[in-house]
Amino acid sequence: MHPDIFHRDFSPAPYWWEAYTPTVGDLVDVPRGARVAIVGGGYAGLSAALELVKHGIDAVVLEANELGFGASTRNGGAVSGGVNVGKSFTGKIVEVDGDRVEWILSDAGDAFALIDRLIDEEKIACFWEKAGRFVGAWTKKHYDTQSRRLAMLNAAARSGAYMVPRERQREEIASDYYFGGMVVDRSGKLHPALYYKGLLDACRRRGIAVCAKAAVTRIAREGSAWRVETARGSLSAGDVVIATNGYTGSLTPALRRRVVPISSHIITTEELPLDLARSLIPRARTLSDTKRVLCYYRMSPDNRRMVFGGRARFTQVDATVSAPILHRYMTARFPQLRGVKVTHAWTGNVAFTLDALPHMGRRDDLHYCLGCNGSGIAMMTYLGWQTARKIARVANYACSFDTEEFPDHPLYSGNPWFLPVVGGYYRLRDNLDRLLA
Ligand SMILES: Cc1cc2nc3c(=O)[nH]c(=O)nc-3n(C[C@H](O)[C@H](O)[C@H](O)COP(=O)(O)OP(=O)(O)OC[C@H]3O[C@@H](n4cnc5c(N)ncnc54)[C@H](O)[C@@H]3O)c2cc1C
Repeated sequence: MHPDIFHRDFSPAPYWWEAYTPTVGDLVDVPRGARVAIVGGGYAGLSAALELVKHGIDAVVLEANELGFGASTRNGGAVSGGVNVGKSFTGKIVEVDGDRVEWILSDAGDAFALIDRLIDEEKIACFWEKAGRFVGAWTKKHYDTQSRRLAMLNAAARSGAYMVPRERQREEIASDYYFGGMVVDRSGKLHPALYYKGLLDACRRRGIAVCAKAAVTRIAREGSAWRVETARGSLSAGDVVIATNGYTGSLTPALRRRVVPISSHIITTEELPLDLARSLIPRARTLSDTKRVLCYYRMSPDNRRMVFGGRARFTQVDATVSAPILHRYMTARFPQLRGVKVTHAWTGNVAFTLDALPHMGRRDDLHYCLGCNGSGIAMMTYLGWQTARKIARVANYACSFDTEEFPDHPLYSGNPWFLPVVGGYYRLRDNLDRLLA
């Protein structure tokens, strides 16, 4: 441990879990059958179940662990209005064909509208605030690239984006760390675990069986139906949806080969003096940057703590490794936070895809929605919803993420052994970019 950064009440668990801790709840029995079985009980699984039931289709959610074990209660709570679509885990924007970009961004815009509507309709108390995002430019060149993307973001994703030059950066952040940056007005923030709990409550209100500790171990055809075997009994289902994202395992090898699980890490500080807390992010936005190994941060919902995340390492590591690195990244941006202690540090898996795009569709006759690429609060809620509408045959337009094409790589079988090397290389490239800027 680095005694100078850890608070005496330090906990190696998400800060968000103080409001909702993943739990098995009243253990719901696995039913004998359901029209649709959903594997994975995160945002995607719950939103799919909710939408199916709204169309009179009975669905069961099968979760391997406690309810909310996955990324859905571990994330930073920054809700993107589409700006991250097509950004690879190297931070590079992946170019997509002309017309498709607009289609994709339009879906990303719809994802933002969906989450806004769901929170309102289901009366989810999760500190939802449409405060916008500031994306700091790591170099002058990055600033210029951001400027060039503006028009497209505004036209296709209705982002309300605009540039903030370096001279005016302090209106956004109490730091001179960046070369200016882009504000994306149509972005928001929420308390991720309370949003999760709100979706869970909405499912329960509608009588949906959400079964904890029901790891799906085998899915096999049985006539025209599926036999789904779980750790707590098996069931028969007409359709199966795989919503396991960064926790996709050996159950679905063909999908596992198409997602790269990368760890992301977050720390939360102790409560800061009021004046200091209010000064750091004057417009209460969420922040991220254009580095390959990016950081993302925001104030806590009570505006007293800094919640600071990033890829301190690309793999799961102990808080004693990740927290000092994130603390260093944080004080590089905010030297005024030197000496501030860390109360919470945690990690979770993000699913990256080889084309940096989210995907939904059908493989081996199983439906799937996977690949948030780091920005999945709105997107995975949306892909679950879209998958449900497709199964219910009520989708009135085709989703841009529903394509045959879901790339894999001959050298990747689902074991991302190469990540530490990749992480080190991209940190080096980031430093070189800045040195040469
Ligand atoms: C540290 C971190 C920070 C992030 N920050 C942001 C952010 O600020 N903004 C943003 O938009 N996104 C962010 N994300 C991404 C976002 O959290 C995810 O995209 C989203 O939560 C994914 O939801 P999901 O339902 O697809 O998957 P998850 O919530 O990960 O759920 C998948 C579930 O599948 C279960 N499962 C796996 N295998 C089986 C099986 N065989 N049987 C049954 N269940 C199984 C797992 O136990 C898991 O609970 C972040 C992610 C992390 C980890």
